[in-house]
Amino acid sequence: MDLYRTKIIAANWKMNTDFAEGERLMSEIVAGLPEKLTCKVVIAAPFTHLQMVKQLATGTPICIAAQNCHFEVSGAFTGEISPTMLKSMGVEYVIIGHSERRQLFHETNEIVKLKVDAALRAGLKPIFCCGETLDIRHTETQNIFVRMQLEESLFHLDGESFKNVSIAYEPIWAIGTGVTATPEQAQEMHNYIRDQVAITYDKIITEETRILYGGSLKPDNAKSLFTQEDIDGGLIGGASLSSSSFLEIVNAGCG
Ligand code: PEP
Repeated sequence: MDLYRTKIIAANWKMNTDFAEGERLMSEIVAGLPEKLTCKVVIAAPFTHLQMVKQLATGTPICIAAQNCHFEVSGAFTGEISPTMLKSMGVEYVIIGHSERRQLFHETNEIVKLKVDAALRAGLKPIFCCGETLDIRHTETQNIFVRMQLEESLFHLDGESFKNVSIAYEPIWAIGTGVTATPEQAQEMHNYIRDQVAITYDKIITEETRILYGGSLKPDNAKSLFTQEDIDGGLIGGASLSSSSFLEIVNAGCG
């Protein structure tokens, strides 16, 4: 067990739950949290829920995340939320470059890079998502593809800034599909990502960088993924919308 890397178990609620449902879900998570929490639990709630989720998390070790942010601090960007706004309300993490943002909202590696920089400037900790489509995996070019995502959006950072980033490997073919990467497939890519970090940063940073897995992670596959050497937790979509399944995954990550 690596002493440097406490696992992160992060829920990504996406655009789900109305206010009352979110409140219930968060209350159940808080109530069911293991007494001795040996991993970090992060809840990425919709913007409209952040204040409430933050309030319910008070006095618990749960950290709050946003699912996205803009790259400017303020200005005429109707409908957008800045990293500074998030920081000012006690948000600690922000998911950046989720594949749904990349695919549905046309976020390029360049835009993702701007967001990473803006989040770090505001004092937020980015959870940087990367991962390939099924077509890319079929042509066995997933390593080059992920390498490019890291290079074009992340590896310009100096070591001090990079320390605040967690990476989430989320193969697009496994997100919301019920298909999970096998522990071996996931470990192989996580190990590759860590190798890329090692080429770019020093040994301590390489050892300390958390690489989370995301993609149809559920209670029944959590343990086999979390016991892989380079898997340092998970980003959980669908299964985080049920308190019982999310808490089972938390227990698998903390155990
Ligand atoms: C995600 O969207 O980050 C995700 C991993 O979703 P799911 O767990 O539903 O595949």
